[in-house]
Amino acid sequence: MNIHNFSAGPCILPKEVFTKTAEAVLNFNNSGLSILEISHRSKDFVAVMEEARALALDLLGLTGKGYQALFLQGGASMEFLRIPYNFLKVGGKAAYLDTGTWANNAIKEAKPFGDVAVVGSSKEQQYNHIPQGYEIPADADYFHCTSNNTIYGTQMNVFPTTEVPLICDMSSDIFSKTLDFTQFGVIYAGAQKNMGPAGATLVVVKESLLNKTGREIPGILNYATHIAKESMYNTPPVSAVYTSLLTLQWLKNNGGIAAMEQKNEAKAALLYAEIDRNPLFKGCALEADRSKMNATFLLVDETQHKATFDAMWKAAGISGLNGHRSVGGYRASMYNALPIESVQVLVEVMKELEKQA
Ligand SMILES: *Cc1c(COP(=O)(O)O)cnc(C)c1O
Repeated sequence: MNIHNFSAGPCILPKEVFTKTAEAVLNFNNSGLSILEISHRSKDFVAVMEEARALALDLLGLTGKGYQALFLQGGASMEFLRIPYNFLKVGGKAAYLDTGTWANNAIKEAKPFGDVAVVGSSKEQQYNHIPQGYEIPADADYFHCTSNNTIYGTQMNVFPTTEVPLICDMSSDIFSKTLDFTQFGVIYAGAQKNMGPAGATLVVVKESLLNKTGREIPGILNYATHIAKESMYNTPPVSAVYTSLLTLQWLKNNGGIAAMEQKNEAKAALLYAEIDRNPLFKGCALEADRSKMNATFLLVDETQHKATFDAMWKAAGISGLNGHRSVGGYRASMYNALPIESVQVLVEVMKELEKQA
C-alpha cells in the first residue's frame, strides 16, 4: 500500500533520495564500501561535504555573500545553546520572540548567558498566531525567532526590519519558500523536518558576526572552529549529510525553492479550504499566520467523530496525522517531498466523514 506520510519529523523524503541512499549503503560511489563505513576523511566523502555546504548556500542565494554553511550534530536544540555562546556578548542582551515550544526552548538555553528580553509572545492565546507590533531593542546583540512553529502550525510571513542581526530557527520550513535570506545573520535547521534524515543540522552563519562576544567558547560549540575545520572538527554524521545532499540535489533539479513554494502553496490551499469548509473540522491557527508546512486542526466534536475519523485515515494509508503529544488534535505536515496526491487523499477522507456523519 502507498503510505501517505504526514509526519512532522523525521519526515517524508523524495523516493529517489531513498533509492540512492539505499544504493550507497551497499556500495557508495562504486567504492565497494558502504556510506556507513567509509572514512569521513576519504576523498569521496570530503567531496560530499563540500558539495552539500556549497549547494545549501546556492539554493538560499547566499553564495559569495560572506556566509558559511555547516552540517553539525545535536539537532536544532544544540543550536539553541550554540547561538548565545557565539553571539550574546558578555554583559549583553538578546531579544527573542516567543511563538511556541521551540522558541521557548531557545529562550531557556540563552538565559544563563545574559539579559534575555522576550519582546513578544502569543502564549496567552495558545500560540495561535505570530505576535505583531513588538519592538527590538537597538542595543540587542541579536533577535531570535522561529520561522515556522511546527507544533502550533503558525508561520512568519514577514521578518522585522532592524539593524540587529536576525537569527532564525528554520527547522520546519527551510527550502520551502523563497525569501531574501541575506536579511538573516544566522539560519539553522535540523535536517529531519524538510531536508534529510535525523542526525544533521544545517547552520548558515554570516562570518562577520563571529568572534565578538568576549567569551571563551569551547571548540565543539564554536562556529568559528567548525568553519575553520570545514565542518569536520569532529566526525560529522556521514550518512545523514549524504542523504541531505541527495535531497538538496533533488531540490535543485526540480526547480529549486521557487518551484517547491508553488507546490507547497497548492497543497496548503487544498487542505485549508477543506478545513474551513467542512463543518466537522476547525483550524487551530489564525488564518493570517497559519503554516503552509504544518496544518493543525481539530474535530469540532471529538467524542462523536474521533474513533471513526482515525480509523478512516488509517485505512486510507495515511500515517503521522496525530498532533504533537503536547497539544493533541491533528497535524498534517506537508513538507517538500509530500505529493499533492497525499493531500487529496486526506481531503477525500474528511469529506467522506462528513457524508457519513
Ligand atoms: C523539531 C524542531 C526543533 C528541535 O529539533 P531537534 O533536532 O529535535 O533538536 C527545533 N525547532 C523547530 C522549529 C523544530 O520543528
